[in-house]
Amino acid sequence: MTPPILRKLADLRVKTAKWHKSGETIGVVPTMGALHDGHLSLVAAAKKTCDRVVTTIFVNPKQFNNPDDLKNYPRTEEDDARKLARFGIDAVYVPDPDQVYPERFSTTVSVAGLTDVMDGVFRPGHFDGVATVVTKLFLQTAATDAFFGEKDFQQLQVVRRLAKDLDIPITVHGCPTIREIDGLAMSSRNLLLSDRARVKAPLLFEEMEGIAEGVGQGEAFEPLQQAAIRRLENAGFNKIEYLEIRANDDLSLLDAPSRSSRLFASAFLAGVRLIDNIAI
Ligand code: AMP
Repeated sequence: MTPPILRKLADLRVKTAKWHKSGETIGVVPTMGALHDGHLSLVAAAKKTCDRVVTTIFVNPKQFNNPDDLKNYPRTEEDDARKLARFGIDAVYVPDPDQVYPERFSTTVSVAGLTDVMDGVFRPGHFDGVATVVTKLFLQTAATDAFFGEKDFQQLQVVRRLAKDLDIPITVHGCPTIREIDGLAMSSRNLLLSDRARVKAPLLFEEMEGIAEGVGQGEAFEPLQQAAIRRLENAGFNKIEYLEIRANDDLSLLDAPSRSSRLFASAFLAGVRLIDNIAI
């Protein structure tokens, strides 16, 4: 059954107040829509864990540092609602923009430290936008649990931090990255890849796996990194923003996986920015 679509905060609150009153847990899955199996895996995890599930769809203007990126971001609301139908969730919250950012909205949530690296550097302002909207969605939905993908691992750590720092009573769950058969991490932005670029896109993950394997066998990281960058550039990737090992907890840069860490990458292919990360 297609879940009810709510566009007003007041309507959402009527529902969540009832659920709270009867002691039910509420899971929220924040998304920007153009839903794929990665998003749907979060919805499935939420359904498994919580009594009630709300998926939110909001293309948050504050987290786009590039106006063209915002304009071109895929919007497929009808399809999204259809895809959600089989999960039996309780509501889809698609707030009108003024429900999130009413006139004279003046507050920014900003997480220091974790946002000084990677996407925090290459997408100035992005994480302030994310932190602000996620805080609002946590408070608006009054959820007890939230589900985020490891695909955006830096974002996941930023969200965990803000929930803790602001004493928001919510458990943040990180869920594994879902990939296409050829290894490409699912992403709404993949829809923007031309057929030719789509064929090349899985190379990013392949190279990352190669590095992980090499490092796992005791090889030095840097030569592996440099060789992978060369091959990616030869294949048509340009602007490889980062390809580096960082610690899971504080995202500090490592030259070898000396503690629990991941390999993070960001690169452009035919004008589309792809990011990925794997455990190493
Ligand atoms: P987005 O719509 O891109 O803002 O993503 C919404 C949520 O889905 C975020 O928590 C993402 O990390 C998560 N997500 C996006 N792609 C994937 C994927 N391939 N696998 C798992 N989670 C994902």
